[in-house]
Amino acid sequence: MKILVSNDDGYLATGIITLAAALEKVAEVVVVAPDRNRSAASNSLTLNVPLRVTQTGPNRYAVDGTPSDCVHLAVTGFLDYEPDLVVSGINHGANLGDDVIYSGTVAAAMEGRFLGLPTLAVSLVGINLVHFETAAMVAAELVRKIDRAPFESNVVLNLNVPDVPIEQLKGVKATRLGFRHKSEPILRDTDPYGRPIYWVGPAGPGQDAGEGTDFSAVEQGFASVTPLRVDLTRKEIIDELSGWLGRK
Ligand code: MN
Repeated sequence: MKILVSNDDGYLATGIITLAAALEKVAEVVVVAPDRNRSAASNSLTLNVPLRVTQTGPNRYAVDGTPSDCVHLAVTGFLDYEPDLVVSGINHGANLGDDVIYSGTVAAAMEGRFLGLPTLAVSLVGINLVHFETAAMVAAELVRKIDRAPFESNVVLNLNVPDVPIEQLKGVKATRLGFRHKSEPILRDTDPYGRPIYWVGPAGPGQDAGEGTDFSAVEQGFASVTPLRVDLTRKEIIDELSGWLGRK
């Protein structure tokens, strides 16, 4: 199995280094990742300037682009073969609930959706993170499962792992996305020249964090796996919308 590994925290992040090392024990791995932290880049592609790639080691490449650029580039011609699977992460921090809308980690996995196997986004949940090995082990186990019995090629598996030693992990749960409260307000300040500056505040706490959600599983000490789709259509209200559009 040939695995393309990417992330949004940059090729030097502890998360991607730990993940690539763990996956190399079960598969052939190539890393194509941003040359710096591009967290919250979402699915953006760079279209107005060219991309440059720097080889940083054997099968290791850094790109001056977004996470989506990295995977797009890798699977549309930069690599001389098509990888079987994209695994993105290990993100330094949660990708729970609405985080997936902004996440570069999830976007990188999503960019591999045409490859024919489910893709995997991996995040370690916490602030001062320690146990990247735990997330790497769970990710490697899921990859082995995918290799043995792929089940749905059009899905992105969004894995979030609590920052605990592997012995303390309670198991792995299939979940749905919860959602967060509104994010914290922006911070206002002035730059050294007296001009106003603003800093986007952190995400809010979980609001829909009840049983069955990704928030709940991680809170209880489980790794959470949510199957994501790219099609955002709310099919169940198409008829209602059609009726609403038809009303005078
Ligand atoms: Mn990140």
